[in-house]
Amino acid sequence: MAGRYAPSPSGDLHFGNLRTALLAWLYARHDGKRFLMRVEDIDEQRSSMESAQRQLEDLAMLGVDWDGDILYQSTRYEAYRAALGQLDTYECYCSRRDIQEASRAPHATSGMYPGTCRSLSDSERSTRRAELAAQNRHPAIRLRAEVDGFTFNDRLRGTVIGDVDDFILLRGGQEPGWAYNLAVVVDDAFQSIDQVVRGDDLLDSAARQAYLFQLLDAPVPEYIHVPLVLNTRGQRLAKRDGAVTLRDMLIDAPLPTVVSALASSLGYTDISTPGELLEVFDPTALTMEPFVFTDLTSDH
Ligand code: GLU
Repeated sequence: MAGRYAPSPSGDLHFGNLRTALLAWLYARHDGKRFLMRVEDIDEQRSSMESAQRQLEDLAMLGVDWDGDILYQSTRYEAYRAALGQLDTYECYCSRRDIQEASRAPHATSGMYPGTCRSLSDSERSTRRAELAAQNRHPAIRLRAEVDGFTFNDRLRGTVIGDVDDFILLRGGQEPGWAYNLAVVVDDAFQSIDQVVRGDDLLDSAARQAYLFQLLDAPVPEYIHVPLVLNTRGQRLAKRDGAVTLRDMLIDAPLPTVVSALASSLGYTDISTPGELLEVFDPTALTMEPFVFTDLTSDH
């Protein structure tokens, strides 16, 4: 059984990403689990091998070590195809605009697919498919969900009930692509992940994923959605916030200073290596407050 870190290789890791990676490593190592690395490179437009390489180098340099081989999602398309074949699905021809318009209807729950294509007749389907094909576009494939909510357990939040809709498994359009929610579940199951530590921006996806584990007869992992790092304006930290990537931070500060700032953001002082942090890490002490990043050496 194992924990994991699963970055999308679309840019260098910043202080917030590094903090989440460190937490995932700390929880797994504290609980005596293996810690696995997975490169989530299914989005071919935004991912690059160079970026994956730089992220992995950064994590290794920081001292976040992992076990076994790295799994690249771009090598897993057959497994996603096989999982798709096990699920009850339907084609969806909606554009983003169709969905926005349908979502304005009374009783629509925002962010939930309103089910427009769920019960089309065969002839309606062939018409819609032909219309899309004429524009050189493919339909999306959605899960025919049998529930509209699902309950899962999060170590920091307790029992959570989240929305489930007929979410996308294979994206349509001109370049069809595997959807994050399917890939993440198939791979967490494949890698025997039983502990998912990640940013709480993904909390809204967790019920859909937990439901998918159940449909695929795989055990649902324990979730630990950790608070994000924010900038001083209260927005999620991003690269435009200045010297926040590891490489940028290391221009002005030695590595132990970066580790010390990460540890300090978690409430620990006088720490300069992940090993020292692991010795004192208390998984029950993490607060739910987002951490506001000012600069590396300020006293947090
Ligand atoms: N690849 C996702 C990201 O970088 C994380 C997915 C996950 O941890 O479930 O945001």
